[in-house]
Amino acid sequence: MYFNKEYETMPVKKMRELQRERLRWSVSHAYNNNPFYHKKFDAAGFHPDQIKSLDDMRRIPFLTKQDMRDNYPYGLFAVPLDKVVRVHASSGTTGNATVVGYTRNDVEVFAEVVARCLAAYGATDKDVIQVAYGYGLFTGGLGLHYGAEKLGALTVPVSGGNTERQLMIMKDFGTTLIACTPSYALNIADYIEKKRPDYDIRATKLRAGAFGAEPWSENMRKEIEARLGIDAFDIYGLSEIIGPGVSCECSAKSGLHVHEDHFYVEIIDPETGDILPDGEKGEIVYTTLTKEAFPGIRYRSRDITRLFREPCACGRSLVKMEKVTGRSDDMLIIRGVNVFPSQIEQVLMEVEGTEPHYQIILDRKASLDDVEVMVEVSEKLFSDEVKVLDDLRGRISDRFRSVLGITAKITLVEPMTIARSEGKAVRVVDKRKI
Ligand SMILES: [Zn+2]
Repeated sequence: MYFNKEYETMPVKKMRELQRERLRWSVSHAYNNNPFYHKKFDAAGFHPDQIKSLDDMRRIPFLTKQDMRDNYPYGLFAVPLDKVVRVHASSGTTGNATVVGYTRNDVEVFAEVVARCLAAYGATDKDVIQVAYGYGLFTGGLGLHYGAEKLGALTVPVSGGNTERQLMIMKDFGTTLIACTPSYALNIADYIEKKRPDYDIRATKLRAGAFGAEPWSENMRKEIEARLGIDAFDIYGLSEIIGPGVSCECSAKSGLHVHEDHFYVEIIDPETGDILPDGEKGEIVYTTLTKEAFPGIRYRSRDITRLFREPCACGRSLVKMEKVTGRSDDMLIIRGVNVFPSQIEQVLMEVEGTEPHYQIILDRKASLDDVEVMVEVSEKLFSDEVKVLDDLRGRISDRFRSVLGITAKITLVEPMTIARSEGKAVRVVDKRKI
């Protein structure tokens, strides 16, 4: 199902032409109306007039997270503040938060791309959408909210947390689709299993979920789908570009369609900055094509993925990006080996008897990196003999060595030992930093 068939199924050639036109506007807009971009482009010897085709992208300097922090709070806005009707901000756990602004038109575009995502999951104006993302400066809550309203769905702004109330609303209000982080979806499954065995989620109308705001694996999808009895879809985005809705999965569940009429994407080699061809893995770089208040021109996302164009069963012609399972910022370097937390998750979930709840604790002992992985195991296994647990520990340890190339201390813990979060899960505790 489509929300905006014309753009979602636009022939590639026509889309390219549209992108070129919009790119010229967006780059000129940033250059003419924002002093930071003006200075940056001048310093790089780039002028918007040099954009004749999409190949000329490579002449434009990159925008980094640091540029955003340096321009806190409004330094990257390209319209006067009286044209800005909303702001959101990133969490800012390190350094300044990034404040992003939206004009009335930007808010419309944001709602439109989220509505397209929900339609791609099969939702219509007949659906009841429970928005269990946090409402606030974070883009998740309001982003899904306005998208669901734009679609015409009955929108329930419950916000995050309070699982008991989520379950009540789900049943009483007839929720058909829930939007939250994938870790919170599993949290809900745990809660039902441990505290509300009388609650029959399959007897509710819930049939799908829109999950995003943190990377999650294919195995986690299977787990969520099996335990909640729903279809689990990925929704991807970043506040620096607009928020959720930059791309979304469709019924094919094999990659996320990028809303290319609003966002231009490139894959680059994170080391050299060179543009890589379709199909190759690298860092994804975004350029907004229609954003007014906060244009993002060649923004380095740090997210690692690849792009592919192939006819999709859903009929969309939009380029697809592979599900993001790692952010170059999240990459851990353990005794010189590069590891993404998502790879650790993948390994754990392939070992039978483990639960998708884990925490990686990094420490430095005698100047060597020390890795401990705490993994929850199923109740049944935990009550078993010591030998069974020893075997499991050995199997996980072997997989870590053979698949990831690291030696880790594996600690098996009882279900519900690792703290649950109602927002993004805390997967890594790094005590190596002084
Ligand atoms: Zn598709």
